[in-house]
Amino acid sequence: LVSRKKKPEDTIVNINGEAIGDGNPHFVFGPCAVESYEQVAEVAKAVKAKGLKLLRGGAFKPRTSPYDFQGLGMEGLKILKKVADEYGLAVISEIVNPADIEQAVEYIDVIQIGARNMQNFELLKAAGAVKKPVLLKRGLSATIEEFINAAEYIISQGNGDIILCERGIRTYEKATRNTLDISAVPILKQETHLPVFVDVTHSTGRRDLLLPTAKAALAIGADGVMAEVHPDPAVALSDSAQQMDLDQFDTFYNEVFKGRTIT
Ligand code: PEP
Ligand code: MN
Repeated sequence: LVSRKKKPEDTIVNINGEAIGDGNPHFVFGPCAVESYEQVAEVAKAVKAKGLKLLRGGAFKPRTSPYDFQGLGMEGLKILKKVADEYGLAVISEIVNPADIEQAVEYIDVIQIGARNMQNFELLKAAGAVKKPVLLKRGLSATIEEFINAAEYIISQGNGDIILCERGIRTYEKATRNTLDISAVPILKQETHLPVFVDVTHSTGRRDLLLPTAKAALAIGADGVMAEVHPDPAVALSDSAQQMDLDQFDTFYNEVFKGRTIT
């Protein structure tokens, strides 16, 4: 059902007045993790000031080590909802447990399925059974075919509001956290009718590469870019090395938007 052969025209996912997949670039900024109301609100203010409409923030964090910050859980989603309502933003947040979806959709506008859960089939089916857009990330070691099949799990349950997100794959290369597979973007656009995003933060793991990879993503036809922004990355509870601070966010935004109009 996600195949372009089945449906030649692009799918447009409508979120908070943004038509994702309409040919214009869309952006999702926000902290890696929800840490406090003040922290999220500071970023939301900066996002809103730029006329943007989407905010991210993780509440259920799939961390490599069990001793690292695991996120605020439902409390985190409640903070996101409060901030979203105050600033008129739509929020996107990762859900890791199928049992949490029913409650989570009361607080969030887009369900994110993270790289580590791309083949959590019960989670995919549960996300497919609700009427909320889903941002599905490519697995750390997933082929494009496996990625497309994961999206098929969601749509097979009736939910076709899916955004695919390339976020880098694991290779032997150590210069970046993952290797951004930029060619996945046009392949996914050819093979499916779904919008495709690029997460420049988790693919590169390097603040200095966020801007060039975002430009590359848009140049190659991505429908949008995701990047992490934190008021004070040095003290961030996760992904401290690659989140932008608010000044860097300004620069990033100005550079990416040079010569573009947001619609
Ligand atoms: C995230 O976006 O918060 C995240 C954990 O990303 P990924 O699943 O791509 O590693
Ligand atoms: Mn992160």
